[in-house]
Amino acid sequence: MSEPLVPPQVDLRDFAFMPLDVSRLRVSAIVDSISGEEFRAAILLWCASWHQVPAGSLPDDPRQLSKFAGYGRVVAEWEKVAEGALYGWVKCSDGRWYHPVIAEKAIEAWEKKSEYTERSAARTERAKAAAEAKWGEREPTAAQTRSQRLAEARERGKHTNEEWQVLLALFDNACVRCSASDKVVKDHITPIYQGGSDAIENLQPLCPSCNSSKGPDRTDHRSKAFPNWRESFDKEMSLRAPAETPAKRGEMPAARLLKGTGTGNRPDKETLRIAAREPRDRVPDDIEIWARNLVPGDQPVSVVADVTPIRALLREPGITQPDVEAGIAAFLAKSRKRAMNWDDFERWIRTAAKERIAGTPRARPGARGELPAAIRAPDPEKIRRGLFILACEHFRGRWSDGWSNMTRPGHPDCTTPEDIIEEARLAVELERNTDLQRAERQYAYAS
Ligand SMILES: [Zn+2]
Repeated sequence: MSEPLVPPQVDLRDFAFMPLDVSRLRVSAIVDSISGEEFRAAILLWCASWHQVPAGSLPDDPRQLSKFAGYGRVVAEWEKVAEGALYGWVKCSDGRWYHPVIAEKAIEAWEKKSEYTERSAARTERAKAAAEAKWGEREPTAAQTRSQRLAEARERGKHTNEEWQVLLALFDNACVRCSASDKVVKDHITPIYQGGSDAIENLQPLCPSCNSSKGPDRTDHRSKAFPNWRESFDKEMSLRAPAETPAKRGEMPAARLLKGTGTGNRPDKETLRIAAREPRDRVPDDIEIWARNLVPGDQPVSVVADVTPIRALLREPGITQPDVEAGIAAFLAKSRKRAMNWDDFERWIRTAAKERIAGTPRARPGARGELPAAIRAPDPEKIRRGLFILACEHFRGRWSDGWSNMTRPGHPDCTTPEDIIEEARLAVELERNTDLQRAERQYAYAS
C-alpha cells in the first residue's frame, strides 16, 4: 500500500476554489467508464476532498462518503455507485483514499499558500524592524503620545516660528530632498523618538511623500540642497534678532518703542537703527506696480516689467525692498547710461544691501535716506503707462510667462482698466498697419 499522496499538514479549508484541469478531464478515461449518476457522485467527492485534511483525501467510511456524494444517510444508494464514483482513487497506508490528480493540485495550492504566508511574515518582520529603527527600541505606547515626545524634544532644544519661516524661505518653501513644492512639513532629521531635538539644527523641510518614506534615514539634506545655507540663515537671523529677542538683550521691541508704548522713553539712536533694520515683507503683493515705479518712464520698461529677477533677489536673505529701491535709485542717479539690462541694477542693489547691513551706507543719492520722489510715490500716470505697455505686448503676441496675469488683457484675473486695453489694442493695430504700409512702400521702391 502506498504512502499518503499528500502530507498530513496540507489544509486548504480556506480555499474556496479548487482547480479543475479541464483538458485533462475531457480526455480522461472516467468520462467513458462510469455512468452519469456515478459521475455526479464523483464530482461531489472531489469537491468534498478539497476541504478534508489532508486536502485531496477521503475517509474510508461509507456513511461519510454517502453524505459527501449527495446520498445523505441512504448508504445503500451510495453503495450502488461507490465503485464508479471512486474511480481513480487509491487507498493509502493511513487508511484514507487519495486521488493522484487532486493530490497534485492540492500540493501546488499548498506551496503557493506557504510561499504567500512566508512572504507576508517577512513583510510583517520588515515593517516591525523599520518601525523599531524609526521609533527606537520601544514600541510607542498609548501613554507616550506624540505631544509628550515633542515636549521632551523641546527640552533638548527649541526653535521659533521665525526661524522655521527663514529656513523655509531659504529653501524656497520646497522639499530639500526632491525639490517638490508641495506643502512641506517639518522633518526632524534625528527623529524626536531617538532623542532628536526640536531646535532648528534638527529641522528640514520635506514634502509629505519624502517625509513618510524617510524611515530610519537621518540624512541632513539641507547642505546638499544649499551648501552655505547656515551662513545665510545666521545672517538673516542676525538681522531680525534684536527685534525678536528683546528680553535677551534687555531691549524693548523696536517697533513698540517707536509707537510710544512700552517704557515711555523716547527711542534712542540704537533702537531707531534696529527698527530701520527690521525687514519688511519680502515680496510685496503689488510687486508689478511697485517695480514699474522704480524706473522713470523714459527708461526701457522691460527691465522691470518682468519682475522675476526682482522676486528672486527679494527672496535672498539680507535683501529687502528698500535695498532694491535704493540700489536702482543710486544707479539711475549716478549713471548717465540708460538702464539697459538687469545686471546693472542687480550690482547696485547688492551693494546697497551690503552697505545697509554693514551700517555704512555711502552718502549717495538714494543709497539710503532720501529716495527720488518719482520712486517713492506711485505715479498713477506711470502705472497706467506700465499697464498700457504690457497690454501692447499681449496684443503683439509677445507675452512673457513671468508677467502677472493681472495685467494680461482677456485673462480672468486681469484688472487693467478697459480703456487702457482698448487703447493698447488700437495702438498695436495701428502699429501693424504702419508696418504693413512701410513694407508696401519698401516693396514699391524695390520693384
Ligand atoms: Zn520630497
